[in-house]
Amino acid sequence: MFVEVKQLSIQYPSRSTPAVDDVTFGLRAGQIGVLIGPSGCGKTTLLRAIAGLERVTAGEIRIAGQVVGSAQVDLPAEQRRVGMVFQDYALFPHLDVGQNVAFGLHHLPKSERASRVAEVLQLVGLAGIQRQFPHELSGGQQQRVALARALAPKPRLLLLDEPFSNLDVDLRERLAHEIRAILKAAQATALFVTHDQLEAFATGDFIGVMHQGHLHQWADAYTLYHQPATRFVADFIGHGVFAPATLREVGKRLVVHTPLGDLTDVASLAPGLVEGDYDVLLRADDIVHDDDAPVKAEIIRKAFRGSEFLYTLRLASGEIVMAHVPSHHDHKIGEWIGIRAKVDHIVTFARGGTDEAEGSGLPQGIHG
Ligand code: ADP
Repeated sequence: MFVEVKQLSIQYPSRSTPAVDDVTFGLRAGQIGVLIGPSGCGKTTLLRAIAGLERVTAGEIRIAGQVVGSAQVDLPAEQRRVGMVFQDYALFPHLDVGQNVAFGLHHLPKSERASRVAEVLQLVGLAGIQRQFPHELSGGQQQRVALARALAPKPRLLLLDEPFSNLDVDLRERLAHEIRAILKAAQATALFVTHDQLEAFATGDFIGVMHQGHLHQWADAYTLYHQPATRFVADFIGHGVFAPATLREVGKRLVVHTPLGDLTDVASLAPGLVEGDYDVLLRADDIVHDDDAPVKAEIIRKAFRGSEFLYTLRLASGEIVMAHVPSHHDHKIGEWIGIRAKVDHIVTFARGGTDEAEGSGLPQGIHG
């Protein structure tokens, strides 16, 4: 691993619980990681510790094999060769783009400096704008200049702290894709912090979901979505609900009884699962609108998402589920529609478990 974070804990002296608690993950050279989680979960603290801006309490941080941070070692930030991009761009308003990008290049002779500036501006798709000033640029352009400035000194690792959060929602996801492409072209190793799932999915090769200082899961987006390691991850990623389910062996097959009817065909998918009571994760993608389905549900909320609606539905039994329905099926709130479950990946948790990373919140079976 090029970047290794091992059993890392960071405790602010003024607080009773660690801001980062026993976190382990790694990135290979050229990979992009994203830390995601609700406000206060510790992601900024973790990023700042890697940059050399927070002291490590326990565990260690290695870059290219070298310990840069541990309880004993605290390599100064400027010696870590780590670049940072912040949400507020932090461009110098009185310097033009060329001078901004050249900021970390004072060690280079003037001509090399100019050619490196031209090279990174080209890389971020802003060739030739050296003489413009930050206020003449759009928010998205300013953020790409900030990225060019961070890339210019060829850092070993780039850290990006909510780099899109000051931008319009529409622009955000597009820029996230663009910046991913730029980082891949530069073969940069990067770690982002965000609280936005779309952004995380658009940028990360690996995504780490944090909650209360713990890293609940470090995985690619597909795995996070379909094989959430904890209830917290299942809840935080995507739209879904937990519904009570009972597993029974019928003949040689396991059948999952849910409020939406029986899910059969599960036995082959769930070798480790045994009979019992569980909570099963029902994603909005798992619920299909079907007028012929025997199960009906009342629409209690709906949100337009372009090609589809996200319906929140209540079954006669009172259970709430969510469903993605193509937007040409425009039903009214209060209407009852037929639904059925079409679950490709069965994710079950112990009935009534908690959100904790350890213990009863751990999934009983993830299959598919
Ligand atoms: P996030 O980036 O996920 O919002 P932070 O890393 O900023 O979370 O904060 C994690 C926890 O540490 C929070 O409870 C926050 O209040 C606390 N914290 C952050 N910075 C400091 C600090 N300098 N001193 C004391 N507590 C802090």
